[in-house]
Amino acid sequence: MLSIKQIRHTLTTKERSAKEIAQEFLERIDRLEPQLHSFVTVTPEVAIAQAQAIDDAIAAGEELPALAGIPMGMKDNMCVKGMPTTCGSKMLQNFVPPYEATITTKLRSAGAVMVGKTNLDEFAMGSSTENSAIALTANPWNTEYVPGGSSGGSAAAVAGGECVIATGSDTGGSIRQPASFCGVVGLKPTYGLVSRFGLVAFASSLDQIGPFARSVEDAAIFLGAIAGYDPRDSTSIKADVPDYAALLTPDLTQSLKGKKIGVITETFGEGLDSEVEVAVRKAIAHMESMGAEVYEISCPRFRYGLPTYYIIAPSEASANLARYDGVKYGFRDKNSATLLSMYENTREQGFGAEVKRRIMIGTYVLSAGYYDAYYLKAQKVRTLIVQDFQKAFEQVDVLVCPTAPTTAFKAGSKTEDPLGMYLSDLMTIPVNLAGLPGISIPCGFDSKGMPIGLQMISNVLREDVLLQVSYGYEQSTQWHQQSPNI
Ligand code: GLN
Repeated sequence: MLSIKQIRHTLTTKERSAKEIAQEFLERIDRLEPQLHSFVTVTPEVAIAQAQAIDDAIAAGEELPALAGIPMGMKDNMCVKGMPTTCGSKMLQNFVPPYEATITTKLRSAGAVMVGKTNLDEFAMGSSTENSAIALTANPWNTEYVPGGSSGGSAAAVAGGECVIATGSDTGGSIRQPASFCGVVGLKPTYGLVSRFGLVAFASSLDQIGPFARSVEDAAIFLGAIAGYDPRDSTSIKADVPDYAALLTPDLTQSLKGKKIGVITETFGEGLDSEVEVAVRKAIAHMESMGAEVYEISCPRFRYGLPTYYIIAPSEASANLARYDGVKYGFRDKNSATLLSMYENTREQGFGAEVKRRIMIGTYVLSAGYYDAYYLKAQKVRTLIVQDFQKAFEQVDVLVCPTAPTTAFKAGSKTEDPLGMYLSDLMTIPVNLAGLPGISIPCGFDSKGMPIGLQMISNVLREDVLLQVSYGYEQSTQWHQQSPNI
């Protein structure tokens, strides 16, 4: 499968046009969608028009932007003006945003060619994409398995070669966990590095947009195109955006040599699949053989991440989702006799079971009498988790652990077990609570042939070192060259 650089080369040498490349991907989408259902909406007219604009720019001898002609999928919780943005929910099934998300504007000006909007768990709540009210997405490595979630559509689309890159949003692991399940690269940037303006809000102190790609280099180029300050997002960070891709040294001995890598002790305990453990330990030994210094690092409060998240995230969600009342926009029950019953019936019919569960947990823990015991306590524990990370980064450059405790599971096997499903994000959630950048890259396969992901975490705004170390590992191993046979 072609990388961003290869496609750029193909375009600038006029070997093929952007339109031909777009058509090729659209044909692949046509062929694979009956099996994968990665997309909620496929947008051939938009793709062809955007590709034509790139071809015109090439003909005029213009300088090409970073993602010129690159087929891209957009998670369907990011607004594209005039195009349905369903958020995987009946509530927004017919919602056509009158405005554009900053991520959309940035990708447009970077020249990316949008082939469609990808499927997700309803309002990005879930770990398997099975909570989507629109479609069931399959894992390209074995279509009986889930792609992970909530950005399962984006992960499956990139793994299946339906697009080269795709956007994801990660509140508790929704980029990294599906990347791990589908054997691709998924990067959650530092909180605030990529604008959230126009991303449908789930839990605003945790939500972050980031890239899916087939390689660390592609993820670095993609991140460079979407990062940066946005006055329309009040949590946006005013920081310089380095040329991340230029920091990836082709001399692989240099990318790992002398780097201090901390293995998080607590992530290797109970519940970790033995095949995942073996693959991750091998990956760590490999990095050591490449000159990295490996340390055991204890983050004792890491294990409180999951319960803390399931107080804070539903609290914020219950507030954010209060706006779906049938009045302003989105679904409305038209058969109710009174205003109150219209509110009730709209929310009863418009939201799925998992979203309702989160709203109920959130309103409960925020209610008078419970606020201090749950919400306030969770905020305090969040600070302790941040402190564990701060201490760790005084000693090491990068932390490593498995991305998820298991590989992809069979569709339907956890839908009746919400707690089992929540455990999928055990190792990714603390990273969101601390606002840190984290990446998942492929590091092996289990005996069923399903991919295993390695998670690396760096300090705030240290995407540079995170990308360098993951690039060094990726390029000195073969895992990223494997593709599903579909
Ligand atoms: N799976 C987690 C949840 O259900 C994380 C979701 C996300 O990152 N959007 O909340």
